[in-house]
Amino acid sequence: LSGIRLISDSTYVFLNLADNTLDDVDVSLRLDKQLKLDPRSARYGLGALKKLPLEILHLILLALDIQSMTEFRRVNKKARLVTGSIPQDRRILAHAPAAIHGSLHLETARNFSCQALSETLSTAECDGCGDFGGYLYLITCRRVCFLSLGEKTDYLPLSGKDVIRKFGLDPIHLARLPRLKSFPGRYSPRGIKCRRRETLFDHCSA
Ligand SMILES: [Zn+2]
Repeated sequence: LSGIRLISDSTYVFLNLADNTLDDVDVSLRLDKQLKLDPRSARYGLGALKKLPLEILHLILLALDIQSMTEFRRVNKKARLVTGSIPQDRRILAHAPAAIHGSLHLETARNFSCQALSETLSTAECDGCGDFGGYLYLITCRRVCFLSLGEKTDYLPLSGKDVIRKFGLDPIHLARLPRLKSFPGRYSPRGIKCRRRETLFDHCSA
């Protein structure tokens, strides 16, 4: 997701690049979709979970995968308020909302937790080469640079057929591999529209 350049030890700028990543295809992913809720407007509570101190609830939610945390957030206003009070979640939604919305779109949000995403976003180096990494590889939540993302086989996901052919796996093994479901859009300078949702598997895990 998105090109970012490091311009000093602590300053990053978003590049105005059409690099055909997911947030170029759907710019709404970049929007901070946090609703401003009045705590007094929450009519329903958290049931049995209300017995837990807020700090424990935060630790549990941070350990959940993003998909589960999002489903919890949608239960009612109270759940949304509790989830929205987690500092890591607030920071991600304020500064990198596309990371969460993109992983939900790509159906990779079961592969990593809010804590893992927060830690990845708090680093600067590419997982593949150690240079500054301005992109996120959202199948397994790894930070990568433009070159690694475009050239290293680790970040080039494969179709099911290719996984079976290349690694000699049985089709039954595919079920256990991290994967994404591609999002329809135009991902190349030639503007060819990809309409079908393809399932692509993580090369490293295969
Ligand atoms: Zn790199």
